[in-house]
Amino acid sequence: MNYLVPYANESIFSWVVRYHLTCSVGHEKNTYQALFQQPKIRLHPYLPHSIGYLAGHGGLTAQHWLIQHTLYPLFQFFGHDAEQKLLSVMLHGTGNPVITANIPHARLNFSAGHRVCPLCLSEHRQITGTPMFDIRHQIPGLVVCPLHHCLLVVLANGDAGLDRRLTFHHASMTSHVYRVEHQMSTDFAQFCWDALALIKDKSCDLTLLHTHYRHQLMHRGFMTRSGQIRMAILVRAISEYYQDMVFDLERSFEFGERFLGPLIRDKTQTLNHPFKHMILGFWLFDNDPRGFLGQESPFQMMPAFNAPVVANDDRERILSLLSEELSMSQIETMTGRSRCYIRRLAELAGIKQCQ
Ligand SMILES: [Zn+2]
Repeated sequence: MNYLVPYANESIFSWVVRYHLTCSVGHEKNTYQALFQQPKIRLHPYLPHSIGYLAGHGGLTAQHWLIQHTLYPLFQFFGHDAEQKLLSVMLHGTGNPVITANIPHARLNFSAGHRVCPLCLSEHRQITGTPMFDIRHQIPGLVVCPLHHCLLVVLANGDAGLDRRLTFHHASMTSHVYRVEHQMSTDFAQFCWDALALIKDKSCDLTLLHTHYRHQLMHRGFMTRSGQIRMAILVRAISEYYQDMVFDLERSFEFGERFLGPLIRDKTQTLNHPFKHMILGFWLFDNDPRGFLGQESPFQMMPAFNAPVVANDDRERILSLLSEELSMSQIETMTGRSRCYIRRLAELAGIKQCQ
């Protein structure tokens, strides 16, 4: 047992590498043997298995490792842990978590590997003396670091890449940082980070989630009074919203009925990859992940698609602060509203924002 404590949001692979570099002696198989009681193990970037062996290390329980240092909570919340099979596989290593979490079924070809923000990595190295991989960067589909607005680097895993090799060094790691100017991509990344933080300790209730989706679709005028979805209008709206967005996918993402139907239709039992929920939620809840929990989200303050316009104090106030050319951070502090919300209001009102 050792007391090398993981950093907040550190991935398990990252912690194992640090353990290997600081606490272990000799070959990698010694580290694997010491930690997982086996000479070889593949550590998936966000759904690793055999976590039960880590109980006690760093002073943490196996449950804490699972919730705080893997993406188990994300898959659990969106229904991929039926009968706790995923939990069991991740703790005891009795199968493949990626298959148990239905990932191949989603047919989303995200690039496989550990995602790293070069600036987060170097800042962390400067502060602590060692690099770290952040579990939040591993959320499937993310391409941007919301802290630095730069492109994530993918360090391939598998046989030729980082896999059983315990190192932070990789040929794909370059010193060049690509800045992402597309604000919506950064906002989407922030939304995914916030969503993960929000649902970490929440149990899965797909029926309730489905109710929230339909409630908001109704509120925004995408459903008829009799509860029919206006699918063609909906597909057009969401496709237009995402038309400039770049996703980490080998082919373009289709926003048609095949994507939306299983997410929002009544009585569908299809499991949907968390990425699809994120795509729907980011648009539907207007960048506010509290919508997944049915809590207040900013768009409720805005006039609905076909509802009468109701003036709102909060909105009026922000618009007047914007017109007084206060900075985003000043308005954020004064109103408690997120920058996403303020920026969106400014865009809707055609006001050029101050930074
Ligand atoms: Zn970063």
